[in-house]
Amino acid sequence: MMLEDLTMRQILRFSPDSVRPERAAVLALQGMSGDIEPDPRLDAYMDKALDLLGRLCEPSAVYQMVSMPEFDGVFRGSGLNEVRTPLAGIYPHAQAMALFAITLGGPVSRRIAELFEADDFVLGYVLDAAASAAADRCAEAVQEAFGGALVAAGRVPSSRRTLRYSPGYCGWHISAQRGLFDLLKPEVIGVTLGKSLLMEPLKSVSGVLVCGEPGIHEFKNAFPFCGRCSHRTCRGRR
Ligand code: SF4
Repeated sequence: MMLEDLTMRQILRFSPDSVRPERAAVLALQGMSGDIEPDPRLDAYMDKALDLLGRLCEPSAVYQMVSMPEFDGVFRGSGLNEVRTPLAGIYPHAQAMALFAITLGGPVSRRIAELFEADDFVLGYVLDAAASAAADRCAEAVQEAFGGALVAAGRVPSSRRTLRYSPGYCGWHISAQRGLFDLLKPEVIGVTLGKSLLMEPLKSVSGVLVCGEPGIHEFKNAFPFCGRCSHRTCRGRR
């Protein structure tokens, strides 16, 4: 394999431990951060949820580099993006891009559904939040792997920054999932796209990894749709 090929397409497997979320991250997804003191009874549910997560999750990922014209088509999707979006101002300045998908596998998503069906709402809710936080850690790991591979292959200097962006967020319409799946083919790690454009298993994340000068990722979160945004994750990520 040529050195350049090392960054083209990769399938990665992670250990459950490597994506185990911090308790604070799980609590934050449940709306408990900062000054809010969690109910002590939640501790037992948290322990149980993290134990279940460790036994059930099977984290894996795939990424594949794309050219600028290829990504132009994926980004446009069905032409339903907001008129102005952060990503539209970022990716034209990229030095390298890759489509990616990660998943925690089927068993953990099925267990969450079973818990809700059995009216075990508290454990279901905590496990759902823990799995979302783990999926985010897995996406973070792929982001680091791609950025590291680019530097190791001599494609970019180590000062470059790689960040991820996903369809369905920040004005990038969810319909872009179709083109993303056509090119990336994440079925190889067991991720499929439903008619409603939701991924199966549910605890999966897809998007684009954009590598470039750190400054290209800077933007003011003052887009018209930002007023309806409850998570404001762009702040923490930058
Ligand atoms: S405020 Fe929300 S919608 Fe606006 S850029 Fe940030 S994350 Fe995206």
